[in-house]
Amino acid sequence: MKIYADNAATTKMSRTAIDAMIPYMEEIYGNPSSLYEIGQRAKEALEEARTEVAAAINAEPREIYFTSGGSEADNQALRSAAEIGKRKGIKHIISTAFEHHAILHTLNRLEKEGFEITLLPVHEDGLVVPQELEAAIREDTCLVTIMTANNEIGTIQPIAEIGAICKKHGVLFHTDAVQAVGHLPTDVKASQIDMLSASAHKFHGPKGTGFLYVRRGVPLTNLIEGGAQEKGKRAGTENIPGIMSMTAALKEAVAGIEKNSAHQAALRDRLIAGLKEIPHSALNGDAVKRLPGNVNFCFEGIEGESLLLLLDDKGISASSGSACTSGSLDPSHVLLAIGRVHDVAHGSLRLSLGEEITEEEVDYIIQSVREVVEYLRSFSPVWRDLVNGKTPFLLP
Ligand SMILES: *Cc1c(COP(=O)(O)O)cnc(C)c1O
Repeated sequence: MKIYADNAATTKMSRTAIDAMIPYMEEIYGNPSSLYEIGQRAKEALEEARTEVAAAINAEPREIYFTSGGSEADNQALRSAAEIGKRKGIKHIISTAFEHHAILHTLNRLEKEGFEITLLPVHEDGLVVPQELEAAIREDTCLVTIMTANNEIGTIQPIAEIGAICKKHGVLFHTDAVQAVGHLPTDVKASQIDMLSASAHKFHGPKGTGFLYVRRGVPLTNLIEGGAQEKGKRAGTENIPGIMSMTAALKEAVAGIEKNSAHQAALRDRLIAGLKEIPHSALNGDAVKRLPGNVNFCFEGIEGESLLLLLDDKGISASSGSACTSGSLDPSHVLLAIGRVHDVAHGSLRLSLGEEITEEEVDYIIQSVREVVEYLRSFSPVWRDLVNGKTPFLLP
């Protein structure tokens, strides 16, 4: 059996998304800035796409800026908010310890440039407490940036409550919604979001394409200078095939949210129940307030990397955390942020299910993980010390 269970890292492009690109490579390949017909047709398609992307998140077309993906959108949102703060002489930013590195690394840079950063705790359940956010807001806070759904443990934040608090205090609110858009209903107006980042390859669109929503009236700062594309805020000839493909993927994903999430959540819960039966294991993050396809577990006494390699041998593609941390020996910053100690965090496994996952596949995953965990524990010195009582078990 071959099972791709790493949809949080990237997704397979849908047939709709692939088909939507082709005309813009073969026929309507003009530069949207050109005045002749083939350029103008590309320009019309681009603006049609902007309207459709805006509709998917209840924004206005002029509030959508196409980018090269989630990382660029995150960088531009934070840089823009920092610029606004600098002009007003307010340089305090609130975020969380378990954001994506596109956020955390940008915040590190801003800190070196004189900004003060407060990282809110996300607690054991992987959730921000709105009252704690409100208490952290100061006179000089220029930005709150909190992700909608976490890419490792899948927990979903109370975004509308956070938006209301930011609005009340007149603070800009950005959310990295890369894991949420196309998977959870997203409404920037209802949630009072000022800026939102999204990426096509997380909802069956192409890699290297995304967008930044920016509420009308919030001034953007360029990351890329050059031509007048994207209202002068993001230079470079527009990636028309990518944008058209992303738009088709987004429409398809949004239309299927209800049906897909009910199906995925039922199988996610079956998978969680099956893995819980492995002794000395624990689910990471809240069991209910999580993405419909996300399962993330820690198993005591083993290394996540070995677990992944053996699951790969069984045809299962999974992850030990984010694609960005795998390959390094540091445990996941997300698992540390929810209070897992190093030893436990090392034995982690993320399974992010696709929309087409079946019960049979879930049962195969459960059986395979059980076998592999048992096998790895059979020769793990860490496990031997736990069993012999030399070191105490941390997970029940
Ligand atoms: C994947 C991801 C990103 C980065 O998006 P790219 O399009 O790959 O640059 C940012 N934030 C989150 C939460 C993600 O899952």
